[in-house]
Amino acid sequence: MIYLDNNATTALDPEVLEAMLPVLKTHYGNASSASHSLGWFAAELVQIAREQIAALINASPEEIIFTSGATESNNMAIKGFLSKDPALLSALTSNIEHRSVLEPLNYLHSEGLELNLAKVNSDGLLDNSLQDQLEELNPNFISLMLANNEIGTIQDLKLIFDRAKAMRIVTHSDATQALGKISIDVKKLGADMMSISAHKIHGPTGIGALYISKGLNDFAPLLHGGGQEQGLRSGTLNVAGIVGFGKACEVANKLLKNNSNQTKELTELFLKTLKETYPDIEINGHPEKRIPGNLNLILKGTDSAKLSASLSTKIAFSTSSSCQSDSSKPSHVLRALGLSAKDKKSSIRIGLSRLNSIQEVIEAAKLLGQEANKSEAKLSRNET
Ligand code: PMP
Repeated sequence: MIYLDNNATTALDPEVLEAMLPVLKTHYGNASSASHSLGWFAAELVQIAREQIAALINASPEEIIFTSGATESNNMAIKGFLSKDPALLSALTSNIEHRSVLEPLNYLHSEGLELNLAKVNSDGLLDNSLQDQLEELNPNFISLMLANNEIGTIQDLKLIFDRAKAMRIVTHSDATQALGKISIDVKKLGADMMSISAHKIHGPTGIGALYISKGLNDFAPLLHGGGQEQGLRSGTLNVAGIVGFGKACEVANKLLKNNSNQTKELTELFLKTLKETYPDIEINGHPEKRIPGNLNLILKGTDSAKLSASLSTKIAFSTSSSCQSDSSKPSHVLRALGLSAKDKKSSIRIGLSRLNSIQEVIEAAKLLGQEANKSEAKLSRNET
């Protein structure tokens, strides 16, 4: 099996596993246990990880609040800021956000929150009209993703967030897919809150964080209990997960430049090799402004569901966003780009990472191209 679904999740880096093992085996203390050395040691490990994670986005360690993943971080950012009196507040987001941003906002909308959606253009990018929308709507809160999980497009958020800051609008960005792939400086970007997750950067699943700027005071916790994480997120800390997340961030930070060039080259190689076998291809999303490793492709005339079914034991890739439980649902992101029904059915998502080899990338591209040429992989006549 060649694994090319790295936007869904990634393999654990062996170095990360090494860092986690002592915690799982012997150093299993509760980081809140202040009365013995196992507890102190756990607290120390958590602090080191907090520093490693903060360093990757230029935050201060105390601005990192651990969560169970980016779904929780997004919910926490949105409900933590907006749920006190949703009927008196308004929010703006985009029509290509991850469901874990859209659904909490939709929920609060049902409770009275005024919610507006900014549209992306056919390249999947927000354009200058968003600035006008901001002036016109003057929302209390905006949530915009840094990079999209399906089409990989990177948004130029700085200008928008600068404008928002000048208007005293609270800003949140879901940076789950951007972390470790492009350089992030949360201060320069002007985000008050930022969601990140370990399992997209060769860290473990079930651990993430919400960056909350020191300057942001108006925030209510989702989980109440033992008062961990400065009272903002109660619950015993997942020390092994946190150590793994810290290590994954440290490695990503060290490799950032080389790794992103190497993954970019792998991505180009994949596309070139695929086109040699199956030339009728279009890229969904902006061709350049995208995270390294992501390719969302229309293989013209093919039925992506049939393609993935026939290759399901040979190549792992995605027909839609595997980040939702029902991946047969049509993609709201591809719809936002204005794709025809036919092209949506012919779209696949490839996600490469630094752990993919040149050989497997070539082999997978050839296999995919050959399969796409077969009559069994084509859309049926009434679908074309
Ligand atoms: N946001 C984006 C952009 C994502 O890609 C994902 C993961 N699919 C999430 C949020 C949710 O992350 P997690 O799996 O850590 O809850």
